Amino acid sequence: MHIYLEKEIESLKGIGKQKAKLLTKELGIKKIKDLLNHFPFRYDDKTQFCKIKDLENIEFNVSIKGVVLQTKLVGSSFKKRLVAEIKDETGKLELVWFKGLAWVGKLLKPGLEIIAYGKPTKFNDKINIAHPEVDYISKSTHQTKSNVIPVYKTTELLSKRFLNSRGIYRIQKELIDSIKENKNIEIPENLPSKVLEAENLMNRKDAFLQIHLPENLNEANEARRRLKFEELFYLQIRILKQKYLKNEEKLIGHKFPKKELLDEFINNHLPFELTRSQHKVIKEVYDDVLTGKHMNRLLQGDVGSGKTIVAFMSMLIAVSNGFQVTMMAPTEILAEQHFNTLKPFFEKLNIKSEILCGSTKQKLRREIFIGLETGYTKVLFGTHALLEENVKFKNLGLAIVDEQHRFGVAQRAKLWKKNTIPPHILVMTATPIPRTLAMTVYGDLDVSILKELPKGRKPIKTAWMKDSSRLKIFGFIREQIDKGTQAYIVYPLIEESTKLDYKYLEDGYESIKRAFPDVPIGVLHGRMRPDDKDYEMDLFVRGKTKIMIATTVIEVGINVPNATLMIIESAERFGLSQLHQLRGRVGRANLQSYCILVSGFKLTQESKERLSIMIKTTDGFEIANEDLKLRGPGNLLGTQQSGILELKIADLVKDEDILTKARNSAKQIIEEDPNFNKKENAVIKEYLNDLIEQGIDMTGIS
Ligand code: ADP
Ligand code: MG
Repeated sequence: MHIYLEKEIESLKGIGKQKAKLLTKELGIKKIKDLLNHFPFRYDDKTQFCKIKDLENIEFNVSIKGVVLQTKLVGSSFKKRLVAEIKDETGKLELVWFKGLAWVGKLLKPGLEIIAYGKPTKFNDKINIAHPEVDYISKSTHQTKSNVIPVYKTTELLSKRFLNSRGIYRIQKELIDSIKENKNIEIPENLPSKVLEAENLMNRKDAFLQIHLPENLNEANEARRRLKFEELFYLQIRILKQKYLKNEEKLIGHKFPKKELLDEFINNHLPFELTRSQHKVIKEVYDDVLTGKHMNRLLQGDVGSGKTIVAFMSMLIAVSNGFQVTMMAPTEILAEQHFNTLKPFFEKLNIKSEILCGSTKQKLRREIFIGLETGYTKVLFGTHALLEENVKFKNLGLAIVDEQHRFGVAQRAKLWKKNTIPPHILVMTATPIPRTLAMTVYGDLDVSILKELPKGRKPIKTAWMKDSSRLKIFGFIREQIDKGTQAYIVYPLIEESTKLDYKYLEDGYESIKRAFPDVPIGVLHGRMRPDDKDYEMDLFVRGKTKIMIATTVIEVGINVPNATLMIIESAERFGLSQLHQLRGRVGRANLQSYCILVSGFKLTQESKERLSIMIKTTDGFEIANEDLKLRGPGNLLGTQQSGILELKIADLVKDEDILTKARNSAKQIIEEDPNFNKKENAVIKEYLNDLIEQGIDMTGIS
């Protein structure tokens, strides 16, 4: 059937053994189907003419329409070249050839109107185009059929061997022409015809032909739309199918009908009025666990939106029903904080809680294990240390993961195994991502959202200052401390780095000490012993130290409501979401808070954009969107999840429209015919089998 596509590229005209090897090594192109799947990433339109006066600083191919003035041979016999001078209404330009001089010379008669296509370069301060492609306007002998030229990704090595974008285009053209000629070559359709019709998509074979060899841009765009849809459709089919399977087999979860402890807490101990979102989410959780269905829920809420209390109240539901709970955080400091803030409430309700981290001493460990196995200890906080196999619970009913984006899918899977019937899972994150993307990345999770911040919060005021304003900044720190509040100063590095001009923490510490000799100052960084970290954190939490000099160890989760000033040194070194998280360490109560981004003078365009966005908005959702635009989804979500987001042609952010449509189509099909038994869905079954054969598996999806 589609044997042709499985053939090695060596069998194609114009590709010898050497080139084939190189293409495989450099771009992973081994078979004909790989070549077909090496899509152009943009198109040059030869009908868009560039004026000669605008050629300065252009680094891509352009088309120039002009009249030949004269041609001349220059240089000595060894280095002879042909120069043709052309002009348009804005100026003159030289076209240069080093090969085929006689032939070109004969063709380019003065007075002839031509279109020259190529990349302008500067030589001896003069712009020229070397070896342009030339079309003749009057005669059509040399005219290529299409005016749209696909541009392909290539590598330096390939370019040296005549496989630059143009070279790849030539091979693609050869291939497409032969597919067009030979009617027996099949590129089988993989979308049900119903979907093709509903979405008005071209068939698969045409799409492959037209993406590489379009007659015009519109055709190219339609081909791309079709192939993007296909890619996103199958992404969704696989995610939704997995979700469907999970629902089938894991229908059973622990049933938690009771909630006395939750009621008692709400009636007697609630420290503040819950926001409407917090109410709503707790209800969503309760509705899940009430039924005996297995909960697998993602809680999204911006920094400071109050996720911890939601986690805590969910824990109370589980404990009311005699179950144990655990809550995992990405750093020891954060785990300690959760333990310390929630322990007093647990004590009031007579619930035993413990904490387990990498640094927990053996003796204490053994005691904790006994408490967990006998069921005496109800709540275990900790870092990923609690995932270890020797941590066994008597009856774990709920597992919570804070700052989920810091963990991988595999770690969450380990939590599932901590009980014969898997515990309910609640994962929390402050990385707000667009809904469609959340649905894709967090595939089978139900999503809850904390939409608002607690009442009375004032937006954080953000300023961007240069290194030279240091005295002013010191003055501002002093002002804040005099008001009785506290400040963080965050540095990108701990020690001096010879390569990079970072403001390093140790140096900063010294200068702050000198400027504030009367103020108690704390230090916190990743290389300190866990005990020392706890000690420093504790002093700051209790207000004993007023300024905290830190690295990004305080980036996520840390909650000291009395801190109102965040100073970020070398702010240009941080990513947007990191800046947002860091800024989120202040503004966590009703005090007016401030963030000062301190940067050097020489900044890249991207750094400037990042800092400007931080000044423009405090909305995490907006910032995440900007981050997506700047860096792409893989980066945003951390390395663990990025694998599945490596799409060939679609872009989860830019193609959100197509994604939504593809998802809806996929959803409808999974609902109606989850095993693809209907005749019209046979193509799906077949294509999925193909994918499995190729080793593309979706079990890695969360
Ligand atoms: P995050 O969502 O960033 O994890 P936290 O759960 O740490 O936020 O909450 C931030 C701060 O807001 C904490 O000091 C917490 O006690 C407080 N808080 C949470 N919910 C409310 C509320 N409904 N009203 C007032 N303060 C709240
Ligand atoms: Mg938090």
